This record gives sequence, C-alpha cells and structure tokens, in this order.
Amino acid sequence: MLVLLPATMFHLLLVVRSGPARLLGPPTYLPGLEELWSPQALLLLFIWLGLQVALYLLPARKVAEGLELKDKSRLRYPINGFQALVLTALLVGLGVSAGLPLGALSEMLLPLAFATTLTSFIFSLLLYVKALAAPVSALAPGGNSGNSIYDFFLGRELNPRLGSFDFKYFCELRPGLIGWVFINLALLIQEAELRGSPSLAMWLVNAFQLLYVGDALWYEESVLTTMDIIHDGFGFMLAFGDLAWVPFTYSLQAQFLLYHPQPLGLPMALLICLIKVIGYYIFRGANSQKNTFRKNPSDPSVAGLETIPTATGRQLLVSGWWGMVRHPNYLGDLIMALAWSLPCGVSHLLPYFYVLYFTALLVHREARDEQQCLRKYGHAWQEYCKRVPYRIIPYVY
Ligand code: NDP
Repeated sequence: MLVLLPATMFHLLLVVRSGPARLLGPPTYLPGLEELWSPQALLLLFIWLGLQVALYLLPARKVAEGLELKDKSRLRYPINGFQALVLTALLVGLGVSAGLPLGALSEMLLPLAFATTLTSFIFSLLLYVKALAAPVSALAPGGNSGNSIYDFFLGRELNPRLGSFDFKYFCELRPGLIGWVFINLALLIQEAELRGSPSLAMWLVNAFQLLYVGDALWYEESVLTTMDIIHDGFGFMLAFGDLAWVPFTYSLQAQFLLYHPQPLGLPMALLICLIKVIGYYIFRGANSQKNTFRKNPSDPSVAGLETIPTATGRQLLVSGWWGMVRHPNYLGDLIMALAWSLPCGVSHLLPYFYVLYFTALLVHREARDEQQCLRKYGHAWQEYCKRVPYRIIPYVY
C-alpha cells in the first residue's frame, strides 16, 4: 500500500492529461525528476500548510470535546473549519483580483503532488518516531503490531498532538479538503482561459464538490465520532490520504474536463443535479439523524424512532434512515459520487475511478465497522442485522 497508493495517484495524474485517458492503460510517458521536483511547488505547499495552521489557531466559534479516551480523559477540538474555508476563499479572492494567476496551479499539479507525497512520508516518519515515546494508553488499537512497516502505515499513536494542536484532526478536514476545492477552481479558471468560458460540466463538478466540502466543514464536529478519529492511529495511511490522495485524486473529474472537454445539454445537467440532490438528501439526513440521536436521544426529531437497547446502555436506531439499510450515509455518498462523474460523459472510464475506488473503500469500511459494532454490542447488533438485513443498497447489498 505504501507504494501502490502514491503510484496510483501519479498514474491518474499522468493518464488524465494524455490523449487516450485510459484508466487501465499505461501512461503515454513517464516524467523525469525535473518535471516532478520543483522548489516552487514545495514552497507553495508550505505556504498553504502554514496558512491552514494559522486559520486553525484562530479563535473558534466553539470548542468541542471528543469521546472519552482509554484513560477516561477527553480531548478538546476547535470547531472553525468552515471559518477557515471562508477566510481562505476571501484571501484567494483578494489574491486573484490583485493578479494572482490561480489558473496556473493546474499546470503545477504533478510537482505539487510530488512535494506533498514526500512531505507525507517525512511527516509520517516523524509521527512514528514521536509515537515511540508515547505512553501505552495513547496508542491506537490497530497500529502496534510490532512490525514497524505495518505500524508506520496504520499509525501508532491515536491522537498525536503538539500542545493543543491535534495533527490528525487538523489534517482530516483542512489542508487537503480545502485544497481540493481550490484545485478544482484553478482548473475551472484555466478552462475559461483556454476556451473562453467554463463548461457546464465543469461548473457542475465544482459546485457539487464545493457543496461536499462545505458540508463536511459545516458539520465538522461530527468527524469527532468517526472511525478515523476514535479508532485509527495517525500514520502514513491517513497523512498521505488526507494531504495528497484527497486533493489530487478527488479533483480527477475537473482535471479530466480540462483536458477532455465534454458537451453537456441542459436536460442531462438537470437530471444529474437531481441525482446529486437525492444523494445529498440521504447522506445528510442519515448522518444528521444518527448524530442528533447520539448527542441527545430525546431530541424531538429522533425521539419517536424505534430503537434496540444494548448492554452498553446505548441504543441502536432501527427505524428512520437507519432502518432502511445499515449504512444509509454510505448509500447517499455513493449516489453523490456518481453525480460527480456523470458530467464527464460516458466515453471514458477514467472519471468513474472515484466511484469504483469509493465503492471498494466503503464496502471495506462497512465490514470493519460491522466487526467493531459486533464486538461492542454483541447480541443487540445481531438483532439489528436481522431486523435490517441490507448493508448499503436496499434489496441488493
Ligand atoms: P458512520 O458515521 O457510518 O458511523 C458508524 C457508527 O455509527 C458505528 O460504529 C456506530 O457507532 C454507529 N451506528 C451504526 N449503526 C447505528 C444505528 N443503527 N443506530 C445508531 N448508531 C449506529 O461512520 P464513518 O465514519 O464511516 O462515516 C461518516 C461519513 O463519512 C459517511 O457519510 C461516509 O460516507 C463519509 N466518508 C467519506 C469518505 C470520503 O473519502 N469521501 C471516507 C470515509 C467516510 P456508535 O454506536 O459507537 O455510535
């Protein structure tokens, strides 16, 4: 995985700009080191990371507490991700109006991805070394096998921090996710410069993915109960995933549209918007219902839902969204993924990479979550599985 993940990312970055744009074929050429290595790209990356750190440290509208840790303590997290997105947009907007050539970013993606990959490796190495001095209670359940390569990949320490600065929480939703939005915007501007105006397909991809990132940052607090924060250590998997994989592969549709413009009629665009709205409705409805229920089961919006009691004192929802399938939020997310790819037409498989990869990721993630829930809730979980037999897609899976 240490080699395969970066190799896949570079493969995508190379094939997307080639004429045939074949997902499964080899790239038409391999870049030399002089095309990959650029001190300007590294500098730009550090300026970007520095800016996001500074925005993270600004006063937050709220400071939230995470779930209880092994030593019974709780960590505190600033909730100011949406504010960071808005302030970044203002700063970039000011820069563009002062002549900053944002569109040129689209030509720096290869060296930027290279600089980010190198940085992720070095960062993960530092995290690994830092974790050697961490107390046992601070280690993640999965990243302490004793095999150093495995532990380097999965992450040894659960919540590595410097003072109150939480590395994993910072990387999870800030530099990569916000960077993705601005890479998309750069591709839109570049398309306008090349062809006179951005295409309808490019507008849709930008708008859909901006909504996704805006939503993740608006509901930032809910990341505190995800597997990434409460279960997974912070190692190469999350550092590379958050910092490099997300911005450079999730922007694949916009990259594809820059190099391979696609005609898109209004009726088809409206149909794709409808698919996106349905996906978002399920995704947001399911995530909010569970978050509200976990925070306050007697909230009027969830108090009437049917539940199964568990030996832990917690309950499991068995009606509403969570009575339809066992992971309705994944279903909504997958429908949205399809809506991001459809504007790219059906002539190439490449822009559907995200749908294929994301299906594999969510099926694997769902299986991991089921194992944990079975361990946590035992008989009550088995009862839930009996009552709600489908995992992600009703009557199919
Ligand atoms: P979920 O939000 O699906 O949380 C799973 C947890 O929910 C379980 O461990 C359990 O925890 C609780 N739960 C499960 N079933 C029930 C039930 N019936 N009633 C009440 N609680 C229940 O986990 P994820 O972190 O995987 O996903 C969060 C969101 O992030 C999803 O929408 C997903 O699609 C998205 N995502 C996006 C990614 C991307 O790259 N775009 C990557 C990964 C995720 P407990 O009981 O302890 O509360």
